[in-house]
Amino acid sequence: MKKLQADVVVVAAGASGLAASVSAAEQGLKVITLEKNKVTGGAASMGMGLNGVGSKNQRMHGLNLTADEAFLKHMHYTHWMGNARLTYDYYRKAASTIDWLEDHGVEFIFRGSSLYTPTRMRPFAQPDMTSLTVKPPEGQKVGPRCASAMTKALTESLISLGAELLTETPAKHVIMKDGKVAGVQATGPKGEDIEIECKAVILACGGFGDNPKMINENLGFTWGEDLFSFRIPGNVGDGLRMAWECGAAKTRVMMELMYQIPDNLNHFDLEGAFRQPLLWVNKMGERFVPEDCIGNTATMGNCILNQPGRTCFTIMDSDTLKYYKRRGVDFPGVQGEEVFDHFDEAAAAAKEEGYKYYFEADTIEELCEKTGIKLEGLKETLEQYNADCDLGRDTVFNKDYHFLRPVRKGPFYALQSFIGAYGTLGGVKVDRKFRAIDNDWEPIPGLYSVGTDCCDIYGDTYPFVLPGNTMGFCVNSGRMAGEYVAEYING
Ligand SMILES: Cc1cc2nc3c(=O)[nH]c(=O)nc-3n(C[C@H](O)[C@H](O)[C@H](O)COP(=O)(O)OP(=O)(O)OC[C@H]3O[C@@H](n4cnc5c(N)ncnc54)[C@H](O)[C@@H]3O)c2cc1C
Repeated sequence: MKKLQADVVVVAAGASGLAASVSAAEQGLKVITLEKNKVTGGAASMGMGLNGVGSKNQRMHGLNLTADEAFLKHMHYTHWMGNARLTYDYYRKAASTIDWLEDHGVEFIFRGSSLYTPTRMRPFAQPDMTSLTVKPPEGQKVGPRCASAMTKALTESLISLGAELLTETPAKHVIMKDGKVAGVQATGPKGEDIEIECKAVILACGGFGDNPKMINENLGFTWGEDLFSFRIPGNVGDGLRMAWECGAAKTRVMMELMYQIPDNLNHFDLEGAFRQPLLWVNKMGERFVPEDCIGNTATMGNCILNQPGRTCFTIMDSDTLKYYKRRGVDFPGVQGEEVFDHFDEAAAAAKEEGYKYYFEADTIEELCEKTGIKLEGLKETLEQYNADCDLGRDTVFNKDYHFLRPVRKGPFYALQSFIGAYGTLGGVKVDRKFRAIDNDWEPIPGLYSVGTDCCDIYGDTYPFVLPGNTMGFCVNSGRMAGEYVAEYING
């Protein structure tokens, strides 16, 4: 068995683990970081940006929301169900964390694109553009995965600060001695056993989004049937398991629900084209939401949760398709403004691949046959909806009249959406210093949990009103834990 020694072992090198490792190393601690995968980054490398409320960058662009205001907005939105102290400390740290990241070589860009969409269509109801998008690596488009530049910068900092990074080295157990953390057991790339003696461990394993069994047991979804969430390889709940084995108390767990089409990153433009305030119906053919609210993907996830089969369809006719191709989107969203420039290509690729969730039909009858939508229901909806379009007023949901476009002229196009999620949130109960606590709320000496593993600040719905929130919490919790762990180790 290989034996190593450190002050602190950080388990995992995703958003929170990298921040924790760099922060602890900056405090002069001897850090060993264990990462299960070949590369660092976890889900963070898939994302775009993080909450930087109150940062210089935000203020420069006239965005004056303060950390205190963001805190209250967050707490009201989540009905004060989450941990207020963690939430407050996180928002108060967010601006300085942006400076800190910049010091470590991360660059940010400003994206105000949703500011010009009509107010009701704005994804966040009141558009606090709190998310700072990471400037992507050279040659890469702004979009998903641009935060991989942050992963790279933090990984480089970690190494230059003298921390030891062991990849392909999953942690297995935390070793406890006399009621205190004393080490970590891990397995190296060749299957060899490794034991690291240390005074503290920071667990940062990214939840259990890649563990369908645990999702089913804890949240009741069946992955691939009524849930098509992102699965980041390796995020199987190790951080929760290891903390619970040491006696940590449990928190409620949730998923940051949203909606998406299966395998959406490979059908990104197609998804963007249908993420418009078009006609949205459930399997019964009924409308279930004012479609100008679809921009808040979290609340829309909740809406779809209440529909039969937890699914829905977006429908447009050929006149609307022509209109969008000529005029561009109503709602750019993350897919951007040019999705209709690529619509024919995206549709052809979906058909060629036999993608099951995109439909074209010459008649409404054929559309219902292909999608499984109830024909009588859809016919009734269309009669009402098309009449409302002629009238210029949505008599069912009062959707903004700008978005009333009839569904009359074939061919018809439809896309089926499901519940999605970025991952899971919560599981390990922590105090304000990110110390894992037991059922009596006493800290377990030397045991820390950060990032999504301990993230219990959202109540039942992810606050899209303050975007960049999960990555924001993860990076800030990691950074703070690195500071607190130094306090613990240095007495
Ligand atoms: C497609 C996508 C886009 C997103 N976009 C955004 C966005 O723009 N803004 C935003 O705020 N949030 C976004 N998120 C969410 C955000 O990326 C995550 O919430 C955040 O990265 C979670 O950080 P974490 O440190 O908890 O976990 P992760 O970043 O996922 O890191 C977990 C790490 O733990 C490692 N690991 C697991 N078990 C072990 C073990 N036993 N030993 C060693 N290592 C282990 C994994 O390999 C992984 O590297 C997005 C998520 C996805 C999937």
